[in-house]
Amino acid sequence: MNNSNVRREGGCLCGSVRYSVPFEPLATVVCHCRNCQKQAGSALSVVAVFPRDELALDGVLTVYEDKGTSGQRVFRRFCGTCGSPVLTDTERAREQGVIFVKAGTFDDISTLRPTTHYWVKRAHPWLTLPDNADLLEQE
Ligand SMILES: [Zn+2]
Ligand SMILES: [Zn+2]
Repeated sequence: MNNSNVRREGGCLCGSVRYSVPFEPLATVVCHCRNCQKQAGSALSVVAVFPRDELALDGVLTVYEDKGTSGQRVFRRFCGTCGSPVLTDTERAREQGVIFVKAGTFDDISTLRPTTHYWVKRAHPWLTLPDNADLLEQE
């Protein structure tokens, strides 16, 4: 698959934070955990995984330091003006050289196809989960 000619761009609701990445995500997943639900103020979080060195960020993000289920620190970075969650970073992601972009902030969401759903046991009961994705009870 050649994604080299695709540029992904996005930003927060008010537009004071913008980002771009020069290719498609390494993976796109959904997280149904309670912390993602709370932070998003929604049923779930759609997350795109990118190599962290390739992300160009313009603007200032506020950080909330959360704790993951395994006890690792989770840095939830959001726009301090409009509140949009934009990036999630973890210690493990830093080790692996990746970063998580909240894909609901992409300018173009028409081609998003999440392949894996995490924390399905916390999914809102009214949601119908897709047949064509891997559904994991936890992470
Ligand atoms: Zn904003
Ligand atoms: Zn989550």
